[in-house]
Order: sequence, then structure tokens, then C-alpha cells
Amino acid sequence: MAQGVTKNLLNRAQRHLVGGVNSPVRAFNYVGEEPLLIKRGRGCRVYDYDGKEYIDYVLSWGSLILGHAFPSVINAVSKAARSGLSFGATNQREIELAEMIKTAVPFVDKLRFVSSGTEAVMGAIRLARGCTGRDKILKFNNSYHGHADYLLASAGSGLATFGIPQSKGVPLDFIRHTLISPYGDIERLERVFRKYGKDIAAVIVEPAGANYGVVVPDIAFLKSARSLTRKYGVLLIFDEVITGFRFHFGALASISGLTPDLVCLGKIIGGGLPVGAYGGGRRIMRNLAPEGRVYQASTFAGNPVVMAAGIATLKTLSALRRGYKGLELLTARLTDGIKREGVSRDIDFEISRFGAMFSFKFKRKGDFEKFYGAMRKLGVFFAPSEFEANFLSFSHTRKDVDKTLAKAREALWKI
Ligand SMILES: *Cc1c(COP(=O)(O)O)cnc(C)c1O
Repeated sequence: MAQGVTKNLLNRAQRHLVGGVNSPVRAFNYVGEEPLLIKRGRGCRVYDYDGKEYIDYVLSWGSLILGHAFPSVINAVSKAARSGLSFGATNQREIELAEMIKTAVPFVDKLRFVSSGTEAVMGAIRLARGCTGRDKILKFNNSYHGHADYLLASAGSGLATFGIPQSKGVPLDFIRHTLISPYGDIERLERVFRKYGKDIAAVIVEPAGANYGVVVPDIAFLKSARSLTRKYGVLLIFDEVITGFRFHFGALASISGLTPDLVCLGKIIGGGLPVGAYGGGRRIMRNLAPEGRVYQASTFAGNPVVMAAGIATLKTLSALRRGYKGLELLTARLTDGIKREGVSRDIDFEISRFGAMFSFKFKRKGDFEKFYGAMRKLGVFFAPSEFEANFLSFSHTRKDVDKTLAKAREALWKI
């Protein structure tokens, strides 16, 4: 139970914000806890309003790969802010960040910045529909691509290819053009393509799943999807909002040897400020207004302060690029350690890890909630759901990881 200042803020939050939060998962419903209210962060740590410290593995849902309040990012943001917060006209920083992203993601010729991952995905899909002249899109079951109406769909029961809305307020008509297929099942995908292939504008995929627990990339499947989309003239969109710059200095596509037609970015490229971007080859991108007839506009797109945070982040990441391996090893040290501890207690659970990203899956009902609650009490902030991913940042040290392991040892006793 919350106490002191936090308790008071929680009451006020409940009075004025829906569910006391501005995004559903922040309510901690899945783990049956009160929302965590964070006052400030530094490095890999955050602090609540009563001064309690937590080692943070949420990191603004993976955005803060350098950790909280990273000095060069903060300096860049302050400097940019002093020169004006928004212009509604082009600023040098937009060009610089685009150049940096292009060096790291070679299949991108041109980019469009927006203010969230959701908008990046919406833009990419409109563009795909605009340049193919087709209406249907295909997504994989259990993937998350932001909250656009036609993407809030999951597979219905049985062999239904068309989805059912995942949210009230999404008319069935709005997802009429959304096809759903299970990730990893190439035969099913081929079947859908045989029937609808010529009507599909784009296939959108998270190359590594981060929103239904961590799903390790199925490279063979992605390769087959790539050939299938080529064969049918369908664009392949990689939603790399969470995976971009998470596993190396660039897109995950590049490590897997795959070239999508469009890529969506977000999270890390904004260094902790609201951002999104989509990009691809010149021939596709030139269909976007003002060059082409696919419309997409925004008041705050390419905001100078956001761009400054992105540039400072990518500069640091570029210098650290050899460090990604270390980040992965540190993550493995944590997940292997927790796993070992659990196994020695006969607790039935799995940790799915890819690079510096991991998620838990406890087999027995209630175990995750108990583990989660104990860890939170001990000062570790994990993602409050087994479906959400956890991350490490370059601010996490071996000492922080070992501290977390010691706490996990204690928490696992409580199960
Ligand atoms: C976070 C995320 C989004 C949505 O980004 P927002 O900035 O929250 O709108 C889209 N796709 C993926 C894969 C994401 O992880």
C-alpha cells in the first residue's frame, strides 16, 4: 500500500485521470497493484514521491537505452529548448537526425518524422495503400503496432482470417481490410496470399516481438514472408518502433539480412521524448505529400527539442556501438541468474530473452503477481505484465544486475 506523498497523489490521480493514468498498462491492473508514481530518474534508477528507489527495467518502454537523464541528452535538450520549442518549419536538427538514421539503416533513402510510433505506423500503412492502390493489410496475431483503429484487431476464433476488434469503439467495418495470420506459420500465410495476395497493400510485422512477451525473431519465416510479399507486389513493413537501435546501431532488419520496403521507428530515436519516423526507398517515399498524393501532416513533427534528444542519443550509441554485445551479456547474466534461482526452487516459469530485452512467463496462476509484488517492494521496477518486455540500458552495471539478482532470490522465496 502506498503511503505518504504517494498516497495523496494516487487519490488525486484517480479523481482527475481515467483510472489514475494516461495509458492503461500504467494502472498495474495485470499484477493487481497500485500505479507506480515516479518523481525522477537517474541512470538505471527511478524514485517515487516518497523517495523510494527502484532499479528500472521498463525505461519508458525501452526508449531510454542510455538510462534516465543521460548528461549529453539533457544538455542537448536544454540547449535546443533555449533556442525555441517549436517552429512549424524545418530546423537543421531534423536533417541531422535523418542523416544519422540513414547511415545506420542503409535501406532508407528518405524519412518522415512524426510524434509517436502509432503515427509512424499509420503513415507507413497509408503510404503503402497509396502507392499500391490496394486496401488490405495483413498483421500477425498478437503483434502490437500502436492504437490505430484498423490495427486494434486480433484473430477471431477458428480459422477466421479477418480479425475481430480488440477495443470497443472500433467498428467492424474499420477492420474489414485487416487480415490476420499467425506469426511463424508460413503455410497459413501462403494460403492467405493465394486468396487475397493481389489485394494486399502491405504486411506489417514486429521483427522481434516485444508486445506479447518477447518473441525471438523467426528468421526463416521472415525470409519466406519477404519472398512471398515480393511475389505478390505487397510491401513489407517492419515495425521497428521498439527494436530499432535496441540490438545494434541500426534496424533489426539489417542483422537478419532482410530488407523491408518500409520501416517504422520510434522510442529510442527520440531519446525519451515523443517521436516516430517512417522511411524507405525513394520510389516509395516520393508518393508522400508534398512530393506525392498520400497526405500526412503534423504540427509538431520533427520538433527541434525531440530531434536534439535523438541526435545526442544516436551520437552516444554510435560511439558505444561495440557495447551492445556487453549489454546483451549483462542481460543474459540477469535472466540466466533468475532462471537458475527459480529452477532450484522448482518454480515453473520461463524467461524469454532476445538481446537486451526479456519477459517472464510463470506457469502457475498467481506466481507472476507474487514475484512482481515482492520485486517491487524490494525496489525493482519490472514491466507490470507478462506480455510487456523489460529492457536493460547502458546505465545498468554488473553491480546493478547482481543487486537485482539478490532481490530476485529473495522474491522467489515468497512464491
Ligand atoms: C511502442 C510501439 C508502438 C507505438 O508507439 P507509441 O509511441 O506508443 O505510439 C508501435 N509499435 C511497436 C512495435 C511498439 O513497440
